[in-house]
Amino acid sequence: MNPLTELPHDLLELPANQLHNKINSHSLFLVKGKVTRPLFVSVLQHGDETTGWEALRRFLKNHRTNLPRSMVVYFGNMEAAAHNLRLVNGQLDHNRCWPGLHQQQNPTAKKLAQLTETIKALNPFASVDIHNNSGRNPHYAGINALKGEFINLASLFSDTIIHFTSPDGTQSGAFAQFCPAVTLECGQAGTADGTEQTITFLENLIHLPHLHQVPGVAEHQEVMNMFSTVKIKKNTPFSVAHANAQAAFVIERDLDQHNFKWLSPGTPFGTLQSGHQEMPLVVTDPMGLDITDLYFERRGDQVVLKQNVMPAMITPSERAIQLDCLCYLMRPIDRISQPEQPLREIS
Ligand SMILES: [Zn+2]
Repeated sequence: MNPLTELPHDLLELPANQLHNKINSHSLFLVKGKVTRPLFVSVLQHGDETTGWEALRRFLKNHRTNLPRSMVVYFGNMEAAAHNLRLVNGQLDHNRCWPGLHQQQNPTAKKLAQLTETIKALNPFASVDIHNNSGRNPHYAGINALKGEFINLASLFSDTIIHFTSPDGTQSGAFAQFCPAVTLECGQAGTADGTEQTITFLENLIHLPHLHQVPGVAEHQEVMNMFSTVKIKKNTPFSVAHANAQAAFVIERDLDQHNFKWLSPGTPFGTLQSGHQEMPLVVTDPMGLDITDLYFERRGDQVVLKQNVMPAMITPSERAIQLDCLCYLMRPIDRISQPEQPLREIS
């Protein structure tokens, strides 16, 4: 394996939309620190989610000469970042192309499978993938395994922790096979508090010798399980907040205010326009099974919840809904006790 190139320091001067002038998508760089075993950090898998890079470049500027632990930095989608877009039309979502259940054969998936092997060989200390949301959400951390080290890693960022195994092909899901991995969701891009919280997280993490026990972290953390995805049915024209002539379904205004709140049966998600009868939402479990009938029903022209759930990542962005989904549904996992004994290292 070729040794990784060191991160050129002048990159730290560039905002996300300028990086494409200097580096390609899927670039990997080493930043040398005192402890050799590296922390892996991924930024800009979605090109308009800039908090990760903003936080990382400020963090690295603060540690030009005294980084406590080496880091490997991964730059995701530079073409999309150049245009401040989640992804460029025609591109695949990079964060659905990492090694997972579905063995994808497209060129992006092949590239990311190679990269995964490269990083795995470096035996990373932990993996951190940094994102933003397009809707209003608390800042939260997502993990793919309910192990003590994963929960400790997530707790360094937020008390709001979710466990998810779907969608397939995420970076954190792939790396969870060989090191503690977390996805940070830092609220909406461009907000200062998300950047500050991420810098504090990196600052605390980079000094830790291990993740068996983390000082100051509560003994028990409540973790929510993200058990289903809500999408708009394919070929159902929709709009958010305002009816238009084409829309069969109009999603409620300010629906994203419900994120991370318990909702009761009868909570409206949207209204079917006259002449349209068909359920516009489709809810799937992690295996892809259609479970819509359990969660939504029509009451007159309204589409309402059928049982208590907590939604996450509801977005008001029509483009984000089209490219990804309307939201996820969550339920609590019984409080997870951390083991008394330190967990053994994940090999
Ligand atoms: Zn993202």
